[in-house]
Amino acid sequence: MGDEPTSTDLPPVTATHDAIVIGAGVIGVSIAYHLAAFGARNVVVLDRGQVGSGTSSQSSGILRTHYSVPENVELARRSWQVFDSFAAYLDDDEASAGLVKCGYLIAAPEGAKLAPLRAALMAQESQGIAVQVLSAQEAALRLPLCRFDDAALIGFEPEAGFADAYLVATGFARAARRRGVKIVEGVEVEGLVFERGRVAGVETSQGCFAGATVVSAQNIWARDIERWTGIETPVRAERHGVLALAGPEPYTFSMPVYKDLGSPGMLYCRSYGGTQMLVSEGGAGETLAEPDNQQGDIPIDDVLRVGAQVAERFPSYAAAGLASSWTGVYDVTPDWNPVLGRLPDVPGLVVAYGFSGHGFKLSPAVGRVLAQEVLGLPTDTSLAPYALERFRSGRLLRGRYGAGAVS
Ligand SMILES: Cc1cc2nc3c(=O)[nH]c(=O)nc-3n(C[C@H](O)[C@H](O)[C@H](O)COP(=O)(O)OP(=O)(O)OC[C@H]3O[C@@H](n4cnc5c(N)ncnc54)[C@H](O)[C@@H]3O)c2cc1C
Repeated sequence: MGDEPTSTDLPPVTATHDAIVIGAGVIGVSIAYHLAAFGARNVVVLDRGQVGSGTSSQSSGILRTHYSVPENVELARRSWQVFDSFAAYLDDDEASAGLVKCGYLIAAPEGAKLAPLRAALMAQESQGIAVQVLSAQEAALRLPLCRFDDAALIGFEPEAGFADAYLVATGFARAARRRGVKIVEGVEVEGLVFERGRVAGVETSQGCFAGATVVSAQNIWARDIERWTGIETPVRAERHGVLALAGPEPYTFSMPVYKDLGSPGMLYCRSYGGTQMLVSEGGAGETLAEPDNQQGDIPIDDVLRVGAQVAERFPSYAAAGLASSWTGVYDVTPDWNPVLGRLPDVPGLVVAYGFSGHGFKLSPAVGRVLAQEVLGLPTDTSLAPYALERFRSGRLLRGRYGAGAVS
């Protein structure tokens, strides 16, 4: 496929590939799997760490189609079908996404979030997604730990829940390898190689790799693209704390994920290990000067602030103990939605970054449409709304709930 680099233009080359994917997170390995499934040969994935060791393994793993941006609903809907039949989709009986199909409850009190919630539920229905409007009593039957007395609208999505992003990444990686994809761990991509005005490979800590197309799935490290090409890459690294609380009553696997649009931090909660509550805030976090997915401190003030919101909504959890906590880093764009597709000014380069804390639930469909784009096939859904160009044109994918991963 495409022009092959010549030895006079390039440093020594280790192999020639149809596509080189930078990043073995859940997005990169999904792209690689789909490239191979569509028939691409000689696909290589390069990662300085290991499969899933970037930000994917920090994911809370929540899967829902609830979005206020219709394009995201469609990608999430298509992705859910994959999560729901992961082993069959990959043709690997042993593959598991670790799916817990507990449903997704989302509630808003009177106020600014009510109209967006109503509009999003109606839009989901019009896109063929099963959603229900519940009374406070019906919601309490599903999530008895929680009080719904101030809720003006409660939506419930039965085909939703959470899964394990590490398992999904390794599942895609294994299926990709079985279709001939080479995944090279422990290799740092240091730059792009250009030939006759287009990208023709990458320079790495282990020499050069030549390829017809390079796909960057680098998440918080996507600013490399700006250094390598001079093209602005509007993404910043934002650290978020996640708490696991042990309360007097268990938050079981049969209880739904809960999104509390009424809390100041737009909390999300789900079962953790079948007994504890995983909880975090859905808004902005701490912007890091440099991308770094190492564990950071969670200030005690943050723990107290989240704890107070939990106690307000889940009264028995006023007595909960902090069982564990960790941090994870989002790759946030100005409109909290990803940049997907080709960069017109850099032929041969395709990007997928800026998932802004909600990329796991989109990863199967994103991998598929980007593989289609790389191979010049018609894409299942249009990539145009996700183009980098939107930050110049002002046609932003702005969610109606304001800044945050619910988008
Ligand atoms: C705390 C937290 C909670 C989340 N909760 C949810 C949720 O509930 N639901 C949901 O849908 N999403 C959630 N997300 C978001 C989701 O997990 C991410 O969008 C997704 O995992 C990103 O995958 P990725 O492949 O883009 O990135 P990553 O997994 O970070 O992979 C990028 C890879 O690129 C590699 N790399 C980068 N630059 C180079 C280079 N120069 N050379 C070699 N390798 C390189 C890195 O080593 C890394 O492995 C959450 C994220 C966090 C942090």
